[in-house]
Amino acid sequence: MTDVADAVVPLAGGPTLPQERRVVTAIPGPRARALHERRTAAVASGIGSALPIEVVAAGGGVIVDSDGNSLIDLGSGIAVVNVGNAAPAVAQAVAAQAASFTHTCFMITPYSGYVQVCEQLNRLTPGTHAKKSALFNSGAEAVENAVKIARHATGRTAIVVMEHAYHGRTNLTMALTAKSMPYKAGFGPFAGDIYRVPMAYPYRWPGGPDASGLEAAAEVISDIHTTIGADRVAAILVEPIQGEGGFIVPGKGYLPALSEFCTENGIMFVADEIQTGFGRTGQWFACEDEHIVPDLITTAKGIAGGLPLAAVTGRAEVMDSVHVGGLGGTYGGNPVACAAALATIDMLEHGGLIADAQRLGAALRTRLDAMKARDRGIGDVRGRGLMQAIELVEPGTDRPDPDRVRAVLAACHAQGVVTLSAGTYGNVIRFLPPLVISEKLLHEGLDVVAEALAVTR
Ligand SMILES: *Cc1c(COP(=O)(O)O)cnc(C)c1O
Repeated sequence: MTDVADAVVPLAGGPTLPQERRVVTAIPGPRARALHERRTAAVASGIGSALPIEVVAAGGGVIVDSDGNSLIDLGSGIAVVNVGNAAPAVAQAVAAQAASFTHTCFMITPYSGYVQVCEQLNRLTPGTHAKKSALFNSGAEAVENAVKIARHATGRTAIVVMEHAYHGRTNLTMALTAKSMPYKAGFGPFAGDIYRVPMAYPYRWPGGPDASGLEAAAEVISDIHTTIGADRVAAILVEPIQGEGGFIVPGKGYLPALSEFCTENGIMFVADEIQTGFGRTGQWFACEDEHIVPDLITTAKGIAGGLPLAAVTGRAEVMDSVHVGGLGGTYGGNPVACAAALATIDMLEHGGLIADAQRLGAALRTRLDAMKARDRGIGDVRGRGLMQAIELVEPGTDRPDPDRVRAVLAACHAQGVVTLSAGTYGNVIRFLPPLVISEKLLHEGLDVVAEALAVTR
């Protein structure tokens, strides 16, 4: 078999890559198609790929492929490379750590990077109370551990989750996730004592967007009292802005009402900030927007500039309720991932990136609002900062239009713009550019999106 990838001279990634969209072949091009053939033979088909190019370098706002195309990145590998791909500070920290030691297992022989990441999370997450953290490998693992901790701390077992929720793909987190296809179909039986309650979905709330927050919260509270029993509930688990479920921003008042209900009833309020965290929404964490102070908070994705790391951070007495040895994992808080996280946090705190997310987010909103004004197939524009989306519907109705989303994404991909879909009905296009993208490149990417919307109208 010929290995076409051998012929490719790998480019250095990072922000010094030419920040341009460059389409020199069909996308995917010949090298990408050759890789895809090998991939089809070697990789389980349950693992999909939205845009099957062959990446050779990435940085700033672009991804470069082996066919010489340079694509504008409006996805950040699903809200992961907030600080940019191959950010030099992250790459250097990773290289230095990898050269000194790559793993010892923190549960056997500890090291300072793990402790420093926990100190930073305890400092940066909402609330001035005493906090502690524990580190894991993936978002799903963090969510599972938050559930373990909430159950242990309260001595209760019921977990309340939302319509449209996404919390991962492991057995417990599949049960917490709402959408069947593709996440759950055929993979049961699922974990028990999990209850799904109404989400304040402003665009689709029968009483209208303004009423959605308080009305939905009242329904949740009523459901808990009538069908679960508040004294059985260990945790209410909620994404402050839903991710895979379609970037649903809960109506005002929903999160505060649930947080207050939790406090009154000895229930842990758990904020899943895995997609919303680390500056993505123009704040460190999305629950700051309504001044929510969660009892427990899960983080992952944007935490470490692309390396796998996740965390649970919470009230010290809650975190410490678990017996010694009750939490952990071989790789959790790997030293290389911790070094990357410390560099990432430093960039977010001192590089002006969160202000950039606000500034670029305002530009993004202006563009999306303008697209909606001339397109009756755009039902809703929503999100905050660099986590925003449009929901596509059949014109004049609120019936989801997933076919048009597929057509728009295909047109964007062919023109060298990486865009992602989302939503329970598959009818949402989400925008998650790196926080370091240039405003010029963001606009060029959105020009392509606008053109794709125009040709599919
Ligand atoms: C991605 C995501 C997860 C799961 O994270 P993995 O690292 O893929 O396991 C959980 N919750 C939310 C809100 C997410 O966006």
